[in-house]
Amino acid sequence: MANVEVKKDNYLAVGRTEAVEISVDTFLCKGCGICVELCPRKVFEWSQELSEKGVHYPIPVHADKCVKCKLCELLCPDFAIAVKW
Ligand code: SF4
Ligand code: SF4
Repeated sequence: MANVEVKKDNYLAVGRTEAVEISVDTFLCKGCGICVELCPRKVFEWSQELSEKGVHYPIPVHADKCVKCKLCELLCPDFAIAVKW
């Protein structure tokens, strides 16, 4: 299993492996849950803490399961997710 690094820094919740980096801008995210529900690999889990906006936000804790489909990035209505490799 790939090593997953998860960190929150400068409003970003980042999940990273050697193969991919998924970042969620917790300042932009409104907590709608589209990414959490529609990611085919269930990469995201909700944060325990609240963001600056006062909502729970998704954390890419299972980045090692990501298949780089970019659905999350494309479907997020607030352009809060970036998937890079
Ligand atoms: S790119 Fe696809 S598999 Fe990866 S986190 Fe986004 S929706 Fe899930
Ligand atoms: S789809 Fe975008 S706004 Fe909605 S929970 Fe995910 S990151 Fe936040």
